[in-house]
Amino acid sequence: MADDSNAKKSDVAKREETILAFWNERDIFNKSLEKGSTQGEYVFYDGPPFATGLPHYGHIVASVIKDVIPRYKTMRGYHVPRVWGWDCHGLPIENIVEKELGFLHKKQIKEYGIAKFNERCREEVLRFAADWEKIIPRIGRFVDMGHAYRTMDKPYMESVWWVFKELFDKGLVYEDYRSMHICPRCETTLSQTEVSEGYKEVKDIAVTVKFKVILEGQTLGLNLTPNTYILAWTTTPWTLPGNVALAVNPDVEYGAYEQGDETFIVAVERAPAYGFANPRVTWPGSQLRGVKYEPLFDYYANDETLKNRERGWKVYGAGFVTAESGTGIAHEAPAFGAEDWMLLQANDLPFVQHVNFDGTMKPEVTAFAGMEVKPKSDDDKVRLGTDIAVLKYLQDHGTFFSKENITHSYPHCWRCDTPLLNYATSSWFVSITKIKENLLENAKAINWSPEHIKEGRFGKWLEGARDWSVSRQRFWASVIPIWVCEACKKQRVFGSASELEEASGKSVDDLHKHIVDEITVACSCGSTMKRIPDVLDTWFDSGSMPYGERHYPFENKEHLDAVFPAQFIAEGLDQTRAWFYYLHVLSGAIFQKNAFQNVIVNGIVLAEDGKKMSKKLKNYPDPMEVVDKYGADALRLYLLTSPVMQAENLGFSERGVDEVVKKNIGRLHNVLAFYELYKNDTPRDWKSIHVLDRWILSRIDQLVDESTKGFESYQLDVATRPIAGFIDDLSVWYLRRSRDRFKTDDEDKKAALSTLRYVLHALSRVMAPTMPFYAEYLFQAVREEEDEESVHLASWPTAGAETRLEMALVNAMAEARRFVTVALEARDKAGIKVRQPLAKLFIPESSSLPEEFFPVIAEEVNVKVLEKKGDEVVLDTNITDELRAEGMLRDIVRLIQGLRKREQLVTADQPVLLVRTTKEGESFIQSVSDKIKKITNLSNIEIVVGEQEAGPGSYAADEPFKLELYLK
Ligand SMILES: [Zn+2]
Ligand SMILES: [Zn+2]
Repeated sequence: MADDSNAKKSDVAKREETILAFWNERDIFNKSLEKGSTQGEYVFYDGPPFATGLPHYGHIVASVIKDVIPRYKTMRGYHVPRVWGWDCHGLPIENIVEKELGFLHKKQIKEYGIAKFNERCREEVLRFAADWEKIIPRIGRFVDMGHAYRTMDKPYMESVWWVFKELFDKGLVYEDYRSMHICPRCETTLSQTEVSEGYKEVKDIAVTVKFKVILEGQTLGLNLTPNTYILAWTTTPWTLPGNVALAVNPDVEYGAYEQGDETFIVAVERAPAYGFANPRVTWPGSQLRGVKYEPLFDYYANDETLKNRERGWKVYGAGFVTAESGTGIAHEAPAFGAEDWMLLQANDLPFVQHVNFDGTMKPEVTAFAGMEVKPKSDDDKVRLGTDIAVLKYLQDHGTFFSKENITHSYPHCWRCDTPLLNYATSSWFVSITKIKENLLENAKAINWSPEHIKEGRFGKWLEGARDWSVSRQRFWASVIPIWVCEACKKQRVFGSASELEEASGKSVDDLHKHIVDEITVACSCGSTMKRIPDVLDTWFDSGSMPYGERHYPFENKEHLDAVFPAQFIAEGLDQTRAWFYYLHVLSGAIFQKNAFQNVIVNGIVLAEDGKKMSKKLKNYPDPMEVVDKYGADALRLYLLTSPVMQAENLGFSERGVDEVVKKNIGRLHNVLAFYELYKNDTPRDWKSIHVLDRWILSRIDQLVDESTKGFESYQLDVATRPIAGFIDDLSVWYLRRSRDRFKTDDEDKKAALSTLRYVLHALSRVMAPTMPFYAEYLFQAVREEEDEESVHLASWPTAGAETRLEMALVNAMAEARRFVTVALEARDKAGIKVRQPLAKLFIPESSSLPEEFFPVIAEEVNVKVLEKKGDEVVLDTNITDELRAEGMLRDIVRLIQGLRKREQLVTADQPVLLVRTTKEGESFIQSVSDKIKKITNLSNIEIVVGEQEAGPGSYAADEPFKLELYLK
């Protein structure tokens, strides 16, 4: 945004910057907040972005939507406060600082010092804020960035504590040990939402493993032979050292298949996939329960201290096992899968955790010690290194059966792209299940645009929502305000800084981890309470935004209570499962209410080729370059009329933006230039009876009506698309057909000027929310003395307030234009130029078109008379001598005007016209010479008659005149 780019800026962009300066100088945004609001307050919540990078198209789309609705509502008489916010916590900034410090592992942060690390995050998280503060106003957004809330400020964080305590006191917070997705690089657990964002197609190795059956006890009844193996299939070979059981479905049929001197047990349904046929014997899965097998590894199976060891390495029944893939028998490693963990709990299985939280194999797993189970790498060999090592081990020990390469969808860290691990660990949860019914009920009141999100993407996500894992094992975040006694394990939750101050006797100025972890509290048992080390999921911050922004309930309590929930929010489709969801969850948990009434969800802006926009590939133009070239209005209208408003993807096309400029702002600018050429101080309240005036007044009413309906239903494409159609009508029909009226000096000129001024004034207000810059320019150009200072202080036009929307008139003009189209096609077919006047046009007798439209059509089609006759549009293409002469006169006049322009003559210049022509041409010119002189302001006409010659200066039979102009 440096000023040296000024040279590259288009006139449109420079005009917009002048208008932006005008708004700033006159403080228009604040005046729009301070002006009287008859309708009361309209509440808007702004989802805070991260300032760790520059705004991309996703931010711009959302920002435009967040600007359009509040501008519209302000014009409708509402007070719409708009305060910016900054998202400051979490992995995005932690990862950036880690990279700058060259850290590869979490332990390096601890060695560096959490306090130093956190302070560095605080310093750097807003490093692009200054750029945002230039870009956001430049795209035309009215928002208070000077008083932005920041999620890292103490008031915000204190409200987050309050929210957490509310939930805790309502019994919605609990700790549990279960299998969760973790990122081994970031070394933290992730929520269902975060996991759902990171699925990618990857190659993996699936292996079928031989588990040797131990023949003893109940296995004898199964009629088994020595060398019998149960086959199990897994896509995560690295989990095999953690195997403690096999699971079969009790209701599925299993068979024993002989191959050489070995026998293999698989589900009968899966046998063909392995080339097995004709089982020697079959059983329902229930009969296989309790069968013992030899462990693949001896790292844990021989450990006599292992709890429940005697229950391990046996077959168990489980309903979740299916015969849809693999062998129909599941390998169970309870530390690495949600279902495996449930099986452990149900059957008191031994627990084996052979992988560290950082994703490396533990030392006791000697063959693989220290290896990363799924490192982040684009190289499949590296990424699958441990899986391949496990495979080799199986081959060396005779427990390998077969392998295959598979491609499947696997979750990755949304932040650092490392493959996630399913990992049993301890985590804090917010119970969604307990309040789900209420959440579903509250959701019914929300109005979604587009509507299908309500029951679709959002509704389905809400229905399937599981408990929310809110604890993170990270550093720069809001903390979980739970203190636990070292001795008696009593817990205490703090809902404000002052509660903690009172309990600890220390002053608490900052609520970040490195500060509050130092603060201990005395327990009633005499021992000491310390904070649990976990911090909060950053979505907890975002979902607490309505309270954090206002430091609720410590300040602004009455105000928020009165205006909750918000009338309007907007964000991209990706926020359906994120910000929208967490706002809804937290307000539902605290107030049993929805947090917002209306929401606009935008789709994703892709590169023109339909691929993701990529900085590396440079497959899209920089947004600010687009603004400098075409202006922010064009970018706004392009986005607002595009499929992103229906939450669909948009392949961004620079040509599309260019087209918007030409079709809308360019055309309108020409209309305005024409108006300014002829304007006098005619006010806009003239009552015209001319059919064109009444028609365009009805059309503006129709536009206001359509646009209002679109805005009221939060469908911005519906609200904005009719603008282009209106500008088209105004420029290629109204102005084109009214041109001559402006050039006269009679009452009709006043009628046309007044009408155009009225229409442009109304149009500027319809455009104000969408194209705020040009709307202002237009408004100022047609403004009257007592009008508002700015279009953004004006009110929304009301359809039919001063004129009456006459749909009959609008429809009649549409019919008239259809007749014109047919007539012009007939001219084209007959090869007759429009300049050549014709005698008659017939329109169908059945048409109810009023006669006042006839001159409008006749002039456009250039016919003398319009009549109703027959049942179709017929053009009389017969050219009489009289008509031909009239046509020739027009041609000559046009040629002379062209020459005057080319020779750069001014109006006062009176040149001589030299005409070279034939004998017939001479007599024609003589017959109209007075007319020609008068119309084109000539001093004289000289005629040279000659025969047709070759070479320059010659004239052809169909072009009988050769003209030159000179000044004496
Ligand atoms: Zn990660
Ligand atoms: Zn205690």
